[in-house]
Amino acid sequence: MKIETIAIHAGTIITDSHRPAIQPITTSTTFEHHEGSLIYTRANNPNRLALEQVLAQLEFGDDAAAFSSGNAAAMAVFQALPAGSHIIAPDDMYHGIRKQLVEVFHGIHETSFVNLADEEAVKAAVKKNTRLIWVETPSNPLLKITDIRALVKIAKEHGLLVACDNTFATPVFQNPLKLGADLVMHSTTKFLGGHSDILGGALITRGKSEFWEKIRLVQHVGGAVPSPFDCYLLTRSIKTLPYRMRGHHDNAMKLAAFLNGHPQVEKVFYPGLENHPGFEIAKSQMSGFSGVLSLMVKGGAAKADEVISKLKYFTHATSLGGVESLIERRAAVEGPDSKTPPNLLRVSVGLENSEDLIEDFEEAFQ
Ligand SMILES: *Cc1c(COP(=O)(O)O)cnc(C)c1O
Repeated sequence: MKIETIAIHAGTIITDSHRPAIQPITTSTTFEHHEGSLIYTRANNPNRLALEQVLAQLEFGDDAAAFSSGNAAAMAVFQALPAGSHIIAPDDMYHGIRKQLVEVFHGIHETSFVNLADEEAVKAAVKKNTRLIWVETPSNPLLKITDIRALVKIAKEHGLLVACDNTFATPVFQNPLKLGADLVMHSTTKFLGGHSDILGGALITRGKSEFWEKIRLVQHVGGAVPSPFDCYLLTRSIKTLPYRMRGHHDNAMKLAAFLNGHPQVEKVFYPGLENHPGFEIAKSQMSGFSGVLSLMVKGGAAKADEVISKLKYFTHATSLGGVESLIERRAAVEGPDSKTPPNLLRVSVGLENSEDLIEDFEEAFQ
């Protein structure tokens, strides 16, 4: 099956004798005991099974586990590691997961934040107790590109696991498991959900290792699982994912080209631009560049805020991946410990007409 077919057909489990075309929502928290029965919805539910099935196939994995948020999915990975593990994580990454490593797992694990584009720095960071390299490419919010194959090579030499946050690329444009990673993580709140109305997360594995069984244990016993309704909504959203992603990519390419070199723009960060330092690597591991870009506005934070206030079609809000365009000044959201440039705007390019989006920016810059 090709990806469009997987998206539509892999996430359906029909047991009803009326044979509905669409899988119903099973709200029951418990199931009558019988041979092979599900037991209890925290442990499993037909809608979650269907969701996990489509997620595993979309990423070319062997199994998937769905969580109630992207953060809960990431947290399960760190909880499944033995205490005292050392983790190598990117110097630019989603701030909420960085916060977990710095504040929640303080005293349990230790983390080195490294520029993953610098292979020598990664090798130098490996310690006796290193167990995991956490990758995020493209990264949030600087759209940094990491060479997944190169990191996998280093990891293999040292017996380390590689987990990749694939939220920005989505399985439509990048499949880290095919490039040798062991685990993929998604915030399904973003492009997979696609309509800014579901919070969710997922992990997908290559092979069912003991470590994967531990992650399953954290999922079942920890209980940060999505509701049957959220699983239903997400499988519904995923059906259109490949088509939506093409639209996000096309619109972001056009908007990035317009912003790149605009007299009021200091710099554009988008891996689809040839002047992006990660362009060649991105091209080698992604089949599209997705729908998020960042730009630095000339004139500092105040000018950046003014641009936001003048835009008509870009809602001033956090998050990304929905059909509607969103914009935010990232440093303001990340708070006082943010390392993001104060004049950096992160844009989630939606599925409106690209000419309207470009015109909106033209007018906001006036
Ligand atoms: C949003 C996001 C997360 C966290 O996901 P939630 O669903 O908000 O918990 C993790 N990684 C990336 C890259 C994200 O954009």
